[in-house]
Amino acid sequence: MRIWMKSVLAFGCMMAASVAGEPQGTAADAARLATALKRVPDTHKPKNIILFIGDGMGINSVTAGRIFASQQRGGDGIAYDLAFEKFPYSGFSRTHSADQYVTDSANGISAITTGVKTINGAIGVDANVKSESCAGVAKASIPTLFEDAKKRGLAAGVVTTSGITDATPAGAYGHTSTRGWRSDADLPKEAAAAGCTDLAWQLVDAPAAIRMDVALGGDRLDFLPAGGEVAGARQDGRNLIETWKKQSAKAAYVANAEDLAAVDAAKTDHLLGLFADGDLPSPVDKDYHKNVPDLAAMTRKAIEVLKKNKNGFILMVESASIDKWHHRNNAYRALTDVDELSNAVAAAAEMTSDKDTLIILTADHSHGLTLSGGLAIGAPVMGLAQSDGQPKRDRQGNTYPALTYATGPGEGGGDEHPMLDQKTATDPAFKQPALVPMNSAAHAGEDVPVYAQGPQAYLVSGSFESTYLYQVMRHALEVKPK
Ligand SMILES: [Zn+2]
Repeated sequence: MRIWMKSVLAFGCMMAASVAGEPQGTAADAARLATALKRVPDTHKPKNIILFIGDGMGINSVTAGRIFASQQRGGDGIAYDLAFEKFPYSGFSRTHSADQYVTDSANGISAITTGVKTINGAIGVDANVKSESCAGVAKASIPTLFEDAKKRGLAAGVVTTSGITDATPAGAYGHTSTRGWRSDADLPKEAAAAGCTDLAWQLVDAPAAIRMDVALGGDRLDFLPAGGEVAGARQDGRNLIETWKKQSAKAAYVANAEDLAAVDAAKTDHLLGLFADGDLPSPVDKDYHKNVPDLAAMTRKAIEVLKKNKNGFILMVESASIDKWHHRNNAYRALTDVDELSNAVAAAAEMTSDKDTLIILTADHSHGLTLSGGLAIGAPVMGLAQSDGQPKRDRQGNTYPALTYATGPGEGGGDEHPMLDQKTATDPAFKQPALVPMNSAAHAGEDVPVYAQGPQAYLVSGSFESTYLYQVMRHALEVKPK
C-alpha cells in the first residue's frame, strides 16, 4: 500500500509539470517536431546523386567528432550539428562482408556500389573470387552504380583524401579480387597474364561509356612510369596522366590546390587531379603541405565540372583520412577529418538543391574508438577524463584520456598506461591508448549510421544491409520523372 501511494505521488508530480498543454521540454525540440510534422516524402526523381563516405566513421566518431568540431569553434560540444546531422532521414547499415563479420573498405564500398557483398579485399565483383587470384574475376565482375549511371547519360566522379586507387574510390570504377593491385607493379605476373589489370589502369582505360569524368585524390606514382622524369611506380612504361589528357579535348590534369582552383569548369569535362604521391596529408599538417586542396575544395570543383551535364551526375566523396588516422590511434587527426567531411557536405549542399539532389552519407565500417564516461561538459574531448577541473583516476591512480581505442599502436592500454598530463593528451600527435596492442588498429564491426536528404531520401530508414543503399540509389536512377 505504501509503495502504491509513493508511485501515485511520484506520478502526480510528473503530471503537475506538464498539465493542460503547458509547454514542457526545449524550444529546439519543439521546432524539430514542428518540422517533422510537416515533412512529406519527396518521391520525385533526383537529377543528381552524391554519396559521401566517412571511411571508418562509426557513431563514436560522429559523436566525438561533433564535440571536437564544436569545441574547435569555441562551443560547448552540445549545441552543434555536423552538416550531415541536419539531414532529415537516417538509418543503420550492417557492414559485414561475405566472409567476415568485420569488413574492410573494399567490400565495404563494393556492397554499396554493386548491391552485392563480396569477400574482404575485393571490389566490383561478387564473392566467387579468391584473394590474390585473377581466376574468375572477369566472370564475377558486376557493373557499379557509377558505371550504370554513366550508361544512363549521367556524368560520374570520385573524390577522396586517399590515393585514388585505394579501395573506397575504386568502388566507383574498379573490378578486382585484390585491392592491393593498384599499379601494374603490384600485379603478379600470373594475374597480368590471365588478363587482370591494375586499378590505376582501370580508372584511365575504362571505355568512355563508363569512364569516370572526374577523379581527384592522391596516388600520383601509380600513374607514372618508373623510369620517367618523376620516377613513378609503373613498370609498363605507361604515363596514365598523359593517356587521360589525350582522351578528350576537354580533359585536364592538375597536381596542386592552386591549379585545381584555376580549372575553368566551363572548358573542362574530364578532370584528373593527383595531389600527392600516395594519400593526401592531414589538414592538421597543412603548413607542411601548403598546396594540397582540402576535401571541400575538391568537392566544389568536382560538382562545378559535373553539374554541366544536362542529365545530372553521380559523385562519390570520401574522407579516407578518418580511417587512416584511426588506424594509427591518432584521434586528433581522425576527428579533424570528420570535420573536413562535414565541410565538404556543407559545400555540396550549398551548391545543389535538396529538390533535385539525393545526398546519402554513410561509413563503410566503424573503428574501435570509445568516449568513456567521466568527461564534464566543457572539458576538451581530446584531453583527460575530468570533472570540476580535476582529472579522473583509474584503479592504479593514474590519469587517463576520455578517448581510447580497442586495438592499435597507441601505448598504455589495460593497466599499463602512464600518468598522462593534459598537454600530452591534447597534443595533435598523441595516440590514444589501445587495449590490444597492434601496429594498425583493426576496424570495428558495429552497424554504422546513414544520413540522407533530397528526393528518395525517405527510403533511408530503419536497419538494413549496406547493400540496400545500392537499391535506393538504383531506384533513384530508374524512377520516372513526374
Ligand atoms: Zn581501414
